[in-house]
Amino acid sequence: MAMSDQIKEAIETLKQTGVRITPQRHAILEYLVESMAHPTADDIYKSLEGKFPNMSVATVYNNLRVFKEVGLVKELTYGDASSRFDFVTTDHYHAICEDCGKIVDFHYPGLNEVEHLASHVTNFQVSHHRMEIYGQCPDCQKQKQH
Ligand SMILES: [Zn+2]
Ligand SMILES: [Zn+2]
Repeated sequence: MAMSDQIKEAIETLKQTGVRITPQRHAILEYLVESMAHPTADDIYKSLEGKFPNMSVATVYNNLRVFKEVGLVKELTYGDASSRFDFVTTDHYHAICEDCGKIVDFHYPGLNEVEHLASHVTNFQVSHHRMEIYGQCPDCQKQKQH
């Protein structure tokens, strides 16, 4: 799907749920779709503050919460580090660089069997699972070689 289509679709979702589309919300959505970088609220703020001088990090965060409530973004929390936000396309997993913190998407068939097994073994009603791969990204590997 082209990026502009993804943005259009996201805006359609917002309209259907009665969320007002402000220029700021539009810009944040655009940034999320185009950056593909799992930004923090601070990253988004820094890239948009020139365009919206009255915007604060808190505003960005509140807008992200609205997007999260309607299912447009996922919030990825990593212990005490600040949350990162992922525009929800299809389900995917993450490879995370232990040196620079970069998060890269990869696709793998859903691990539904694990959920069934876990549910069977623990009697939990499983809602979702999270799998992450850790290591060094190609850029950090290169830096180590110098
Ligand atoms: Zn790295
Ligand atoms: Zn992702």
